[in-house]
Amino acid sequence: METLPRHFFLDKAFEEHAYEDKAFPIGNKQTISQPYTVAYQTILLNISPREKILEIGTGSGYQAAILSMMGGRVFSLERQEELYHKTSKLLTRLGFTRISTFLKDGYLGLPEYAPFDKILVTAAAPEVPKTLLEQLSVNGLLVIPVGGSEGQKMLRIKKTGANKFEQKVLDNFRFVPFKKGINRTHS
Ligand code: SAH
Repeated sequence: METLPRHFFLDKAFEEHAYEDKAFPIGNKQTISQPYTVAYQTILLNISPREKILEIGTGSGYQAAILSMMGGRVFSLERQEELYHKTSKLLTRLGFTRISTFLKDGYLGLPEYAPFDKILVTAAAPEVPKTLLEQLSVNGLLVIPVGGSEGQKMLRIKKTGANKFEQKVLDNFRFVPFKKGINRTHS
């Protein structure tokens, strides 16, 4: 995280605040996660080089870039069309060739590339989507904040068998909501 300039991922208006440990608006009512949260989720994923990682909520692309720098092969889904286009261009411009972005509803996952070694959800989920558990490989990890708008608990779920899971309930966080469907706003 020290080697990746965070100001690349922020709107000009917030550039001077890029190195504060805070979340900031990135348009379409979404936010770039606080660096603490990015570090927290990344550590929980325990990434090894060449693992296949599915991220739900591309947003600014910052978390995807960190996952890629950890050696992962990243597949990132975003439901906001405008953000999807903007961030896809940025990641290409910055040379992140091992991140693939998709304008897709994260509730459906990405069956065509499943199973994934790791799945990371960066939006507040009311519950753990079954689809994502299905798309996890055995011994794979899902990191997901679960709860309502008042706050969420971070969960780390390990798939221990075809239909077996071990769950750890961790700290409190506050993410933007995990919403269903695609929001086509691109002009
Ligand atoms: N990982 C991002 C955090 C962005 S905030 C970053 O590093 O900047 C969460 C993002 O999840 C938002 O951009 C929001 O639009 C997206 N999101 C919410 N529900 C989604 C869904 N069903 N599918 C895909 N993305 C979703």
